[in-house]
Amino acid sequence: MTQSKGKQAPRNGQPNPHFLWRSGQIVPWEQATVHVTSVGWTAVGAVFEGIRGYWSASRRELFAFQLDAHMTRLARSMKLMRMATNITAAQVRQGVLELLSANEFREDVYVQPLVYFAEGIPGYVGVVERPVDVLITARPSPSTLEEDGGLTACVSSWARIADNVMPPRVKALANYQNSRLVSTEARVNGYDQAIVLNREGKVTEAASSCIVIVRDGVATSPPWSAGTLESITREALFTLARNGLGMRVEERDVDRTELYIADEVLLCGTLMEVKPVLSVDRYTVGDGRPGPVTRKLQELYLRVARGEAPAYGNWLTPVHRGRRAGSNGAERAAAVNGARRAGTTKARA
Ligand code: PMP
Repeated sequence: MTQSKGKQAPRNGQPNPHFLWRSGQIVPWEQATVHVTSVGWTAVGAVFEGIRGYWSASRRELFAFQLDAHMTRLARSMKLMRMATNITAAQVRQGVLELLSANEFREDVYVQPLVYFAEGIPGYVGVVERPVDVLITARPSPSTLEEDGGLTACVSSWARIADNVMPPRVKALANYQNSRLVSTEARVNGYDQAIVLNREGKVTEAASSCIVIVRDGVATSPPWSAGTLESITREALFTLARNGLGMRVEERDVDRTELYIADEVLLCGTLMEVKPVLSVDRYTVGDGRPGPVTRKLQELYLRVARGEAPAYGNWLTPVHRGRRAGSNGAERAAAVNGARRAGTTKARA
């Protein structure tokens, strides 16, 4: 979509970043335009990722969190949705790091690679292995892990999409119509979030996050096959609960009524991070305050994300280290693009 004055068109009150990454090039935000007729159906055939970057003030470094896991999931989403591109997963990974570096972020950020059929191909047309374009945007997004309080939730009257309808295990944009119905209904009825059941009546996840319940010291979450996105945060939290807190964790079907009698309920996801749910359908969870396991997981997760837990250092990819220290973002973008033109880093195979 044409946006002639990027800096004058802030989103959520934030100015736009200087650059985005588009099919192998760092591009000034305002110059990344397409003709209006090519949008519309684009979202039907798009998959994406949401990645967080955490700033460490003590180490003066920005860490991309679980970057490789996100790249793996992006590749799986593309495979499942039969999307082909000349741009390799390694180039997208590199693109994320280059973009964060070019924008000179020194704060927490949220990065969104988007892979889409660029030619406005109608969503009902069978498109097989047609090349797609890749776009990466990144914006400041402060962590909310140190915020107090929690969320109210209801059980949605909508059912979760199913594996044989629109597979929820991958991050396809079209899946989020289901999420939108779910979260809008929750809002209209006065709740912060909604938890969605599958057609069998078992718990799946929330509109844009996964769910973990704690009962008698055991952390439990539905299996992917219940109808959830294959959540990277949920995996990370299970590892931290097991290894960091010495807890038993289990993946099994969760009944709706377990939500009402659980000691703790939390939602987790890249953007959501780790958030306590304080009530479900007006049943108070525990004593109505964030529970001890949730609080410990929040603390541990933040320490890991900020690079303060060496045992989990391999979950982090440093952004600025070794990257032309002292040059500004514009110079770095020019250097990246220049190297490409010279053929040292090929954007397209
Ligand atoms: N479920 C849905 C529907 C989501 O959109 C998200 C956020 N990506 C999650 C779960 C959590 O996934 P992750 O931990 O990989 O961010």
